[in-house]
Amino acid sequence: MNHKRDYYEVLGVGREAGDQEIKSAYRKLALQYHPDRNPDNKEEATERFKEITEAYTVLADPQKRAAYDRFGHAGVSGAAGPQPDFSSTIFADFGDIFGSFSDLFGFGDIFGQTRTRQRGAERGADLRYDLEISFEEAAAGLETKIKIPRMETCSDCNGRGARRGSQPATCPACGGRGQIRTQQGFFTLSQTCPQCRGMGQIIREACPTCHGEGRTREERVLGIKIPAGVEDGMRLRVSGEGEAGSQGGPAGDLYVVLRVREHPFFERQGSDLYCTIPISLTQAALGAEIKVPTLRGHEKLTIPEGTQPNTVFRLRGLGLPSVEKRGHGDLYVKVQVIIPAHLNREQRRILESLAPAFRVDNSPLKKRVSEKAKNSFG
Ligand SMILES: [Zn+2]
Ligand SMILES: [Zn+2]
Repeated sequence: MNHKRDYYEVLGVGREAGDQEIKSAYRKLALQYHPDRNPDNKEEATERFKEITEAYTVLADPQKRAAYDRFGHAGVSGAAGPQPDFSSTIFADFGDIFGSFSDLFGFGDIFGQTRTRQRGAERGADLRYDLEISFEEAAAGLETKIKIPRMETCSDCNGRGARRGSQPATCPACGGRGQIRTQQGFFTLSQTCPQCRGMGQIIREACPTCHGEGRTREERVLGIKIPAGVEDGMRLRVSGEGEAGSQGGPAGDLYVVLRVREHPFFERQGSDLYCTIPISLTQAALGAEIKVPTLRGHEKLTIPEGTQPNTVFRLRGLGLPSVEKRGHGDLYVKVQVIIPAHLNREQRRILESLAPAFRVDNSPLKKRVSEKAKNSFG
């Protein structure tokens, strides 16, 4: 190993320098020697950058600094060798400086820090299936079958990917570690071994059915049960019916997203239903018994004498069932009084004869209208 410069000298600070002084000295130098800022002199800048960063990590740590003050370089170069032990605090403190090349190498891969990655087993992907159902099906509930293409664990090799009876071998590329380290400048990069994809083992004889993948693409028909009262946009989670996990990992979930078609007559708000029914002038005035369509057929509704236009009647329990099984909603019926647009001669004669008896001059509303007109214009 070459002669190492004194850490205080490297940072250009005195032996009594405080934390802040060390920090700002490092910042200044780090910006000056950042490899990205020295494209013409990258190698030398990288060497300087490494040197100041090593000095900083020792002097910024009270324990390491004390050891360095007593024993010099020997006090801080442990079994790990010259590669400084960079703590993540340096990223937090100087993220702005490191930012640009963290992007290049992926945060945490710099300085030989290895991203922890679970080897092998991975959970299968979640799947989404859009299912369109009718308004009535949403109201009544439905049992149906859906066909989903998905990755399933290969039944011939039980997901191992090896031909039945054959044994996997240790990966020659990584020696079974699943990770490969490469030196790039002064960075040590750890990567998932591309040959065994982090498994540490390779298959010598691939399963002929899945070609070593351990999974095969299947079209699976699933029976699903949709509860009564579901609404448009609701998601049903079918646990464990997503894609198979790799290398024995758990399966993902299947999400069935419901699209409920609109009804030509009913509108819906939660579990309540709304509809509008036309009634005649005479039905409104004299009262009547009418038939109201419901989701299950018809229901009688008594229109009392003197019913005003747009009156809303509530028919309890004739809405939709609540999906949380808390009873049924109600059906709200609004009556629309139809004023005839055309009259035949007979109808005209009768209505004209009635006209004097139905003058509105003395109605409270008419009085208010007259007063308002007087105030505005008079
Ligand atoms: Zn490998
Ligand atoms: Zn297989």
